[in-house]
Amino acid sequence: ILCSSQDFDFFYFVQQWPVSYCDTRRSCCYPTTGKPDEDFSIHGLWPNYNSGKYPQNCDRESSLDRSTISDLVSRMQKDWPTLACPSGDGMKFWGHEWEKHGTCTSLDQHSYFQAALDLKSKANLLQVLGDAGIRPGKFYSLESIKQAIEEGLGYGAYIECNVDPAGNHQLYQVYLCVDTSASNFIQCPVLPHGRGCGNSIEFPSFSSDSQSRDE
Ligand code: 5GP
Ligand code: 5GP
Ligand code: 5GP
Repeated sequence: ILCSSQDFDFFYFVQQWPVSYCDTRRSCCYPTTGKPDEDFSIHGLWPNYNSGKYPQNCDRESSLDRSTISDLVSRMQKDWPTLACPSGDGMKFWGHEWEKHGTCTSLDQHSYFQAALDLKSKANLLQVLGDAGIRPGKFYSLESIKQAIEEGLGYGAYIECNVDPAGNHQLYQVYLCVDTSASNFIQCPVLPHGRGCGNSIEFPSFSSDSQSRDE
């Protein structure tokens, strides 16, 4: 069997809203490099099939080598912070994303992380939402959030919600679809299986209700 390393149809580029990662019963831990900005941050760049299935862990021998991304690390600390506990500097999270998803692309380590960072700058979700009057600290309808992104970026997004300790649905992750070159947004061929949102979605702010566990 001929096994191409680029055997997939498109990418999900997934960004998380750090306040919503932290504002759950499970809480979070800020990275050792400092409290994250109140901005969307990268979760991952995930190769996917049009069927909805996806490849993962395509090369068990490949682990992330810090020296290949040393010039990107300061941008990654800002735009791709880790919020899982215990606190870390991000290498573990980035290494996981590389092993699980990056190894299934045809990109080398540097190109993979660079592509994700460039997509984040290109999307600028916080500004796109702000331009439509959608700012942290209030509740919005799913439709208004989706419409703002569609109008601002020209492509639809899938919105995933989670639930805060008070039971409010909140904006947790935004999925955008990207072509196999990892550089252009496209209309999603298939929607992911995320958690639902309900009609009224909180876009929470760190200043109103954040708490992280002390490590
Ligand atoms: P969860 O079960 O938390 O939604 O997803 C767990 C992990 O599975 C994600 O962080 C991601 O690594 C992977 N994953 C979940 N859904 C998808 C998907 O639709 N496509 C791809 N490529 N990976 C996914
Ligand atoms: P995926 O869900 O992409 O397979 O990977 C998520 C993994 O990375 C989980 O093991 C999770 O604990 C870890 N992780 C570390 N930092 C973060 C973070 O800031 N956000 C998310 N979603 N997962 C993180
Ligand atoms: P669920 O996400 O629970 O499967 O479905 C939520 C309902 O909202 C479905 O009817 C789904 O098709 C619709 N929906 C449309 N767009 C979105 C979106 O971007 N996010 C979510 N969560 N639901 C959406």
